[in-house]
Amino acid sequence: MVIIIGSGPIGLATAIELKRKGIESLILERGCLVNSIYNYPVNMTFFSTSDRLEIGDIPFISHGPKPTRKEALEYYRRAAEHYELDIKLYEEVTAVDGSDDNFTVTTTKGSYSCSKIVLATGFYGQENRMNVPGEDLPKVLHYYDEPHRYAWQNVLVVGGGNSAVDAALETYRCGAHVSIVVKYPELKPSVKYWVKPDIENRIREGSVTGYFNSEVVEIREDEVDIRTPEGDVTIENDFVLAMTGYHPHFGLMKKLGIALTDDEKKMPVFNEETLETNRKGLYVAGVVCGGMDTSRLFIENTRVHAQHIAGDIEKKLNG
Ligand SMILES: Cc1cc2nc3c(=O)[nH]c(=O)nc-3n(C[C@H](O)[C@H](O)[C@H](O)COP(=O)(O)OP(=O)(O)OC[C@H]3O[C@@H](n4cnc5c(N)ncnc54)[C@H](O)[C@@H]3O)c2cc1C
Repeated sequence: MVIIIGSGPIGLATAIELKRKGIESLILERGCLVNSIYNYPVNMTFFSTSDRLEIGDIPFISHGPKPTRKEALEYYRRAAEHYELDIKLYEEVTAVDGSDDNFTVTTTKGSYSCSKIVLATGFYGQENRMNVPGEDLPKVLHYYDEPHRYAWQNVLVVGGGNSAVDAALETYRCGAHVSIVVKYPELKPSVKYWVKPDIENRIREGSVTGYFNSEVVEIREDEVDIRTPEGDVTIENDFVLAMTGYHPHFGLMKKLGIALTDDEKKMPVFNEETLETNRKGLYVAGVVCGGMDTSRLFIENTRVHAQHIAGDIEKKLNG
């Protein structure tokens, strides 16, 4: 029996590949099915085409060229149903004891024995904080949902990636007065190519105020201080959407005995071919493998982990 921690696309793909080899698995998920995708912005569209998000050879047909969050939720639920995967939801893994072929996995609800473990916990549950005064005010959000509640409000978006750009454009189009603070001289090169001209033109014409090479210094109930190359400025503010990225749960990985590289990437140490970590019998899969470097790995290029892991486990279980 293999325990897979996390029911994201890659956790599901791994369970499917194991099932195809006749190996039993159980997925333990702390939230709902594909919890990260569930928590994406409501109107989010993937940058990948649907065929690149497919798992288990099940066709993913979307209405447009790029699937929506809603379509992805339905697709992954149907894939899990089709393969009759064994999944326990709302059950968080908190500890792993024992060793290869004889692990005990402890959750918030109980404990399970298994021979191998696959950690497929992603990164979306832990936000990168700005570490500035006022960050804990309720008006500061690290997860953007949908635009309506920001209508006619002074909204400051922090960040220069896709999440920041989507939040800035959506809230602007819903009547918010939007400013965007970007740490670097320009937006990230990874911003969706069909969206980039839109935000750049809105900034150029002044509909959205852009502060580049700038950082938030302090957030107060009605204002935010921003450090810009021209000096500090204070702007009126009702909401801060801090789209500053996310990172894997390093605390859990350390607790599970997974070594991390000691550079700024903090990548888990694993065998590139098998995905087995330094803790024998414990594998990593999906975007958790990238450590802090979260913009390099996606569903697209980590789906293949499922086959590598299932192949290695099959080899080991069958001697
Ligand atoms: C806004 C956004 C848009 C994206 N768009 C694309 C795209 O277009 N194309 C693409 O390829 N990628 C995209 N990505 C990246 C990729 O989709 C996600 O990171 C993807 O969900 C990664 O899959 P995963 O299975 O590795 O991890 P996740 O989907 O993050 O799944 C991890 C799961 O583990 C669970 N979990 C965590 N800790 C525990 C625990 N202790 N116990 C039990 N369960 C736990 C979580 O609740 C979660 O359900 C996007 C990411 C974001 C944030």
